[in-house]
Amino acid sequence: MRAAPACALVLVLVLVLAGAPAAAAADPAEAALAARDAYVSPRVLGSAAAPAERELAEVAAAMADAGRPVKLAVVLGPTGAPSLPAYARRLVRTLEYEGTLLVTRARGPVVAVGSRPTADMTVQMRAARIGAHANQVERLTAAAALVVPPPPDERGELLRPALGLLAVAALGGGWAAAVGAGRAARGRRRRAAEARARARVRLDALRAHAGALLRRPGLPPGERAHVEAALGAYADAVSALRETDDAERIAALDPPVAAALVGLEGVAERVGAPHPRGDIFAGLCAVDPSHGPAGATAPVGDRPDAPVCGGCAEAAAGGARLVPRRIPAGAGGLPFTAAAEPV
Ligand SMILES: [Zn+2]
Repeated sequence: MRAAPACALVLVLVLVLAGAPAAAAADPAEAALAARDAYVSPRVLGSAAAPAERELAEVAAAMADAGRPVKLAVVLGPTGAPSLPAYARRLVRTLEYEGTLLVTRARGPVVAVGSRPTADMTVQMRAARIGAHANQVERLTAAAALVVPPPPDERGELLRPALGLLAVAALGGGWAAAVGAGRAARGRRRRAAEARARARVRLDALRAHAGALLRRPGLPPGERAHVEAALGAYADAVSALRETDDAERIAALDPPVAAALVGLEGVAERVGAPHPRGDIFAGLCAVDPSHGPAGATAPVGDRPDAPVCGGCAEAAAGGARLVPRRIPAGAGGLPFTAAAEPV
């Protein structure tokens, strides 16, 4: 019948279409790293996977801004490969990635594949006892800071001959100026990324405090109006944050946030609610202030009894090792509490 070839074609198409997502789903790390720079397997960290991945994404973003592109992953195992190094090499090949890829499992060393020889990076990581970090995020962050090469124009040995041969003879000062301009632009981007992450975590905390007050039963209408004013300041700052990539403009968003916090403290005091007392993160989850008020305690990072939200308490009870949200700083990162003081 004439319809047969068409049927066969449809069948082939169905098989191809069905096969493509199935292949990608076989290794969730590969699918994730094709789209972004960090991946944490929920099968390794459970409900702590998402916050850990966000931390790694921030580290990767800050390093990319510093001209040191990196992808960071915590995987269950070397899916479909005989060893973790073989798996990492395959990932770099499949993703056609030109930066440095760092992979680790729940426990054990970090494997790095990139422009530097893998053996050199391994020796360096062993010497620094990178594998001794029990926490996967800290392990990858420390490894990345150690082995990911600086941008080409900051490698003195490569830059000097280039300038000697090219810039002086042919290009005059133009090349040197272009190198300097590139570095200045990267510095600006990095400062903006740091200011933005800092502003974002403070805004998350402001919203969490306001939300907790709004959910209080019997909040008088006059006090509700004060809380809504604080939420208005929050919304203004969020949209202003979206529209700028200038570190100083981002920092200028902080005074209204601090003022809104003072307003919320007034409300809390008048209605007898616990209040932040000048510390924007007080009373909120020590893993991530955006989780909201803390109602329990659990080990977080190196604090044995940190205040945490219900979700984090549950994750800790299930064996997850909780770490505080990080904000980028230089080539690494800091716990979000580094943003506690107004600018
Ligand atoms: Zn939490």
